[in-house]
Amino acid sequence: MSKLADWAIKFTMGSGSCWNYGIENCLRIAFRQLNQTMHALLNFNLDGLPLFRSSKFQFWPILMIIANIPEIRPMAVAIYFGDAKPPSSEEFLRQHVNEINVLILNGIDLANGSQILIKVNAYIADTPARAFIKCVKTHTAYHSCIKCNVIGEFDRSGKHMSFPRLDCPRRTHLDFISKTDEDHHLWDSRTMQYYHTPLEEIQGIDMIKNFPIADSMHLIELGITKRCLNGWVNGSYNFRTKLPAHETNSISTWLKIGNDWLPSEITRQARGLDTLSFWKSIKYRTFLLYLGPVIMKHFLPYAFYNHFWYLVLATTTIYSCEVYIEVPTILNVARDLMNDYVEEFIILYGSDSISSNAHNLIHVDDDVLNFGSLRNMSASPFESTL
Ligand SMILES: [Zn+2]
Repeated sequence: MSKLADWAIKFTMGSGSCWNYGIENCLRIAFRQLNQTMHALLNFNLDGLPLFRSSKFQFWPILMIIANIPEIRPMAVAIYFGDAKPPSSEEFLRQHVNEINVLILNGIDLANGSQILIKVNAYIADTPARAFIKCVKTHTAYHSCIKCNVIGEFDRSGKHMSFPRLDCPRRTHLDFISKTDEDHHLWDSRTMQYYHTPLEEIQGIDMIKNFPIADSMHLIELGITKRCLNGWVNGSYNFRTKLPAHETNSISTWLKIGNDWLPSEITRQARGLDTLSFWKSIKYRTFLLYLGPVIMKHFLPYAFYNHFWYLVLATTTIYSCEVYIEVPTILNVARDLMNDYVEEFIILYGSDSISSNAHNLIHVDDDVLNFGSLRNMSASPFESTL
């Protein structure tokens, strides 16, 4: 980072500052030993990070990994810091987009005659950041799904938006750049035009396919698995199954016992439910794939446990696509399981319980089809970079 800092261009952005190290500088360091032509598939991660819990100061880093060479650690391409989020996606992303278009066109020539050829693979972000960089409405809006044309249903008693329709037409790149669904895009009342994201100008980008929602860290682990556990433990999120305190204590005990039986490959063990709010994504993953299916059988009513199993099987099957992507039936099975899980969600917890996260599960298979596996669009490599 210190070496990059010497090369960084610093400039003012709104009430904050931005350090732009640049994609080319990062790649030249990563490939300094390269002695052949290399095709680099780039994944970018953009999320807002609060500096302190009680502070309004925040970082907005643009991080990058090379999706087809996962051994190379994430790199910081640019960092914005200020007392509010960047003023606009135009200001935040303009230099990034200008640079990447030059690199896509020309590649990077190294002194020894080798060349790095560039292609954008994915922009990975949590839901609010994804809406910000695409200049579309956030997940609480009626037309906010970035993958399909579903129109949300507002629950007045719970004061939240739900997306129970699962069969709506999928969005396309052409729809997006033509602003076909006007209510999906943000309107600038000053200019009387829709906001325009510079990302649309990237050579060859698809504004739907290159923006996955099936990042397992945000969608499955910190999304639906966390939501289920909070629903069972705290009765939150409109869940109809709240376990009594003595049962949550028993589950905590079983989680601690279960840790002793986990194979050594699983380094982050699940902790007690009293520490649920501090769990990192990997602990939710350990719960979903290994400990939860065994333990929850003894605590959830049959129908709810059966429903949880759909999620376990769907997720396991989706991960299996990494190995069996050439077998279309595996992805078809995963698609059916995810759809069954969401349909059953409506029956068990009510149609008003289909949050943006729950709805997005029906789009996982499309992303896996585009990217080949969950790993190729995962935010996990970026989690501990800054
Ligand atoms: Zn949708």
